[in-house]
Amino acid sequence: MDTTRINASIITIGDELLIGQTIDTNSAWMAQELNAIGIWVKRRVAVGDVRDEIWNALTEESKHSQIVLITGGLGPTADDITKPLLCEYFSGRLVVDEGALQNVKNIFERIIKRPMLESNLKQAEVPDVCRVIQNKRGTAPGMWFDKNDVVFISMPGVPHEMKGMMTDYVLPAFQEKYSLPAVVHRTLLTAGVGESYLAERIKEFEQALPPNIKLAYLPNYGLVKLRLTGTGSDVDAITDETESLFWQLQDLLADVMVINEDKPLEEAIGRMLTDRGKTLATAESCTGGFISSLITAIPGSSNYFMGGVVSYDNNIKQNVLGVPKKILEEKGAVSEETVIEMVKGIKRLMLTDYAIAVSGIMGPGGGTDEKPVGTVWIAVSGKGETVCQKFNLRFDRKRNIELTATNALNALRLLIINEENSNSK
Ligand code: AMP
Ligand code: MG
Repeated sequence: MDTTRINASIITIGDELLIGQTIDTNSAWMAQELNAIGIWVKRRVAVGDVRDEIWNALTEESKHSQIVLITGGLGPTADDITKPLLCEYFSGRLVVDEGALQNVKNIFERIIKRPMLESNLKQAEVPDVCRVIQNKRGTAPGMWFDKNDVVFISMPGVPHEMKGMMTDYVLPAFQEKYSLPAVVHRTLLTAGVGESYLAERIKEFEQALPPNIKLAYLPNYGLVKLRLTGTGSDVDAITDETESLFWQLQDLLADVMVINEDKPLEEAIGRMLTDRGKTLATAESCTGGFISSLITAIPGSSNYFMGGVVSYDNNIKQNVLGVPKKILEEKGAVSEETVIEMVKGIKRLMLTDYAIAVSGIMGPGGGTDEKPVGTVWIAVSGKGETVCQKFNLRFDRKRNIELTATNALNALRLLIINEENSNSK
C-alpha cells in the first residue's frame, strides 16, 4: 500500500478558549483519534470569535495540512460567526438543509418542548457548497468543504456533539479517502519510580529501537506510563514488531510494572482483588473520599469494594473507627499510630480482607515545624500484616491529595504481591 503522510491542522474557535475560561479539550481528543488512525496532527491553533482571525487561520492552515478540522462558533447567538464566514470563504450561499431542519424540529418537539425561535431555524441553514454532517446530538450541523485538495470540516464546539460526528462520520470517511499507515500502540504503567530512573534503566532498549517505533514517557502523579507506537504500511507486520518489543520492555521493567495495558492503577487493583475474590474498604481523612471515588469509578468495583468512611474529624476517627482518644491526643491525627488504628478499625467495621487508611496535612495551612504541610501517613492492611509509610509531599492541595491516593493504592498493590510471595515461599 502506498502511503503518503497526511497532515491535519486543528483550529479551535472561541473567545472563551483564549482567556482560559473553557479549556480546549476538543483538540486533545481529536488529536488522539486522528493519531490512532495514522493521521499526523501537525498544528493546533486557537483563535477568538473574530472574522479576520478565523479567515487567516483557514488560509494559513491549508498551507500546512491536507485536513483542516474546525470546532466552535456554530451556535445560534450573535458571537458565533463561523458559518457565514465559511459560506463567504468557500463562495457559497446559505440554503436550508432538509435533514438539518428535521433534526432541529425534532429536538424542539421531543426534547426541549418549546416553540422554535428564528435563530434556531437558522441552524438548519448551510452553505450550498458543503457536504452536511448531520448532528445526532444537537442542533448545529457539521460541514465538509473540499478546496484545492484540502478538506475543511467545521463542527460544533460542544465536545460530545463534535465527538459524535467524528466517530460516526469523519474518522471513517478519512479511512476511506486516504491510504493511511497502520499505527499500533502498546502501553504499560509503572508505579513508584521516576521518569529519569526508568529512562536510565531502559537506555539500551530505547537506543536500539527501529525508526518506525517510538517510545513515549507519560508521567503523572507518581506513575509513569510508557507507550510504544509502531507505524508501518502492513498492519500485521507492525503489530508483530511492536508486540515483540513490548514484551522486551515488560521484561526489563517487571518489578515496577503495574499493568501491561493503558489502564489506571485503580483498575489494576480492582482486577487483583477480583481475581483473588478479596474485598477492600477505606478510611480517609485528608483525601476526603477521593480514593473511594477512584475505586468506584471502575465498573464492577461493587464486587470488591465494601465502602469507606471519610473520618475527617477526630471524633469520627475515635467514635466510628475506634482510634483511642489517648493516641489522638498524644500522637495527633497525622501519625503512624493513628493511621494504624484507622486501618484496623475500618477492616473490623466493614469485615474486609484489605483496607487503606490515610491521614495528612494537605495545605496550604495547617502545618507545624514538626509536621509541615505535605506530611502524610498511609497504612494498608491485609490478612495479618499492616504496613505503614510516611510521605513528605511538596505540592499544592490538589496534587497532594492525588499523590496521596496514588501512593496509598500502590502500597496496597505491593502488600498484596508481598503477601503472595511470602505465602509461596
Ligand atoms: P460554540 O460552538 O462556539 O457555540 O461552543 C459551544 C460550547 O462548547 C461552549 O460552551 C464552549 O465553551 C464549548 N467549547 C467550544 N470549543 C471548545 C473546545 N475546543 N474544547 C472544549 N469545549 C469547547
Ligand atoms: Mg462560541
